[in-house]
Amino acid sequence: MALMITDECINCDVCEPECPNEAISLGMEIYEIDPGKCTECVGHFDEPQCVQVCPVACIPVNPVHVEGREQLLAKFERLQAQALRDAQARAALKAA
Ligand code: SF4
Ligand code: SF4
Repeated sequence: MALMITDECINCDVCEPECPNEAISLGMEIYEIDPGKCTECVGHFDEPQCVQVCPVACIPVNPVHVEGREQLLAKFERLQAQALRDAQARAALKAA
């Protein structure tokens, strides 16, 4: 499952830089997790890094985005492939 941030978030900013998938961003009022990018840290770490650092424990699983480990791994691989394509595109632009 992807994770989500509840309205108990105190906007302390510590989770955003810890996310290996850049899935966390500041929303209109509190931080948010993009479920399309959250792999529960599968592929990167053994534990969700945002949960490890959150001082108020406001990052539960998102019941709307139920995914097993295989699906999370597949998402991780898609994100890695996309990141590679983006990097290649940037390099090609720089070389032009
Ligand atoms: Fe990012 Fe991992 Fe938290 Fe998901 S669980 S938002 S991938 S740090
Ligand atoms: Fe909010 Fe927790 Fe992230 Fe801090 S670590 S910004 S309290 S979700």
